[in-house]
Amino acid sequence: MSYAAPGNERALAALVKETQVFLLDMDGTVYIEDELIGDMKNTLERIRRSGRRIVYFTNNSSKTATEYEQKLVRLGIFGEGDFVYTSGIAAAEYLNEFYAGKKVYLVGTDALKGEFCAAGIPLTEGDDAEVGVLAYDTTLTFEKLVRLNRLIVKGKPYIATHPDAVCPAKDVFPPDVGSFIALLECSSGKRPDVICGKPYTVMGDCIKRRLHLPPGKIAMAGDRPHTDIRFANNNGFHSLLVLSGETDARTAASSPDRPDAVAESLNDIVRFL
Ligand SMILES: [Mg+2]
Repeated sequence: MSYAAPGNERALAALVKETQVFLLDMDGTVYIEDELIGDMKNTLERIRRSGRRIVYFTNNSSKTATEYEQKLVRLGIFGEGDFVYTSGIAAAEYLNEFYAGKKVYLVGTDALKGEFCAAGIPLTEGDDAEVGVLAYDTTLTFEKLVRLNRLIVKGKPYIATHPDAVCPAKDVFPPDVGSFIALLECSSGKRPDVICGKPYTVMGDCIKRRLHLPPGKIAMAGDRPHTDIRFANNNGFHSLLVLSGETDARTAASSPDRPDAVAESLNDIVRFL
């Protein structure tokens, strides 16, 4: 597939025209590590000035929305009306909807624990836990794994924030929640009852509710076909694959997850705004 093909240009124009809110993956889509991709600051400002909204949308549940916001402010790309939405927030909303008041054992960072507490979720480290939640815990210990494994084997509801096997990084990609899920599957014989983040529908349902918009007014832009694009397709959102991150044109062409449009980077949409 050539992303410069006329069909793709038309698809890109239609996508921009119909979209009121852009859900933006961050790493590989807006920036790489601490470096903005091309003239991203201008692109994001043009999106805002066109009356469209920006939601920074990530599976990474090791950081809170506030921590991401600080980074985006530092990079000069957090504007009026923007907000950050993580798979950790989606997990908290899911718990409040389906397990309200239940005591939760959370394998997660202190930052995420704070976010769960702020959302009114009762956390426990004890044997009274009624639900187990696995997040991207960069402070993971053997003891935490043993505790969560116990809950899973005992048949308690088991929720994971997202499925990514590895986390993007400059050199070697470190293990992410998907790798922890595999470990716990090996020890307990069970997979999560629910996975909240991209590409699944929990995070999609949550953001639809938060935005009060039909899916046809929402577009997901990201650099991973099997998370970002599959997420859009699973939730009825428009999908824009950008080739500025993990995926090149050849990999994109062979992926079973088909986007509505492909762009070299998000900056390509400026001419349609
Ligand atoms: Mg990405």
